[in-house]
Amino acid sequence: MFQTTIQGEVGTHGVGLHTGVQSTIRLVPAPADTGIVFRRVDLDLFPIEAHGRNVARVSYATSLMKKGVLLSTTEHLLAAIYSCGIDNIFVDIDAIEVPILDGSAEPFMQLLDQAGIRKLRRKRRYLKVVKPVEVVENGRRIGVYPAEEFEVHCYVDFPHPLVGQQEVEMVVNAGSFRQVLSRARTFCFETDIEPLRAMGLIRGGSLENAIVLTHDGVLNGPLRYPDEFGRHKALDLIGDLALAGLPLLGRVEARKAGHSLHTQLVSRLLADPTSWEITTQEHRTLGHQAREIAAPAGAAD
Ligand SMILES: [Zn+2]
Repeated sequence: MFQTTIQGEVGTHGVGLHTGVQSTIRLVPAPADTGIVFRRVDLDLFPIEAHGRNVARVSYATSLMKKGVLLSTTEHLLAAIYSCGIDNIFVDIDAIEVPILDGSAEPFMQLLDQAGIRKLRRKRRYLKVVKPVEVVENGRRIGVYPAEEFEVHCYVDFPHPLVGQQEVEMVVNAGSFRQVLSRARTFCFETDIEPLRAMGLIRGGSLENAIVLTHDGVLNGPLRYPDEFGRHKALDLIGDLALAGLPLLGRVEARKAGHSLHTQLVSRLLADPTSWEITTQEHRTLGHQAREIAAPAGAAD
């Protein structure tokens, strides 16, 4: 299995969910062993590697920071790049936040399709988990365990008639991500909008880029899937796991987790070299189907 990059340059632009700042991103091919690297075009191409060591404050989105230079809301774009098995890429961006677009990873998948994937002449290196690593916090938990492939099991439970308990279980690859998760959008509760605005967040939020849950329904339906919320959380999880810096061989189990727990897991994993090894050994993906377990979700409109 060889490393990859993209064939050609592609780009898009839009508003950042939290800052409300317009930005343009350009995806650029990168040589082997580069990894996924953001470059701030407005700061002389200052590079910020998509790596656990650069995780900054994490609350409603994942932000990276290096030497005081911040980059926000990386998770949806990283989920698409990571699931597609793109090892090396520059993400050139001219502002502080990745555009939210429609709130899902689908527009990023379309960009990557447009760019095409190119194989490089260097063996891919995997981060293979050999020992469990867990983070537990107030009834929320996340752990990563040894496995031959990159698998996730993501469980959410929100007290809302349209959400409740939802879970996704899958082997992550380009096909399963596209089919099961890529179209699931960001969501928020209507009652959280004012508090979030008061905190200076969701300045770019709109009914075009987030599902808004009312007391007992959805303000801007229809949903793309009855369990779109659980699927989106799994999408977020994969985007944060990209910060491992290499493709993972391991099974990640998340229970009512979020960006903070996701990134704590990555940091804890990377900080303990006895819990993983680097291997170039190819993993098997043939013969596996994406498995999803749809919870007894309420009917969506
Ligand atoms: Zn998200």
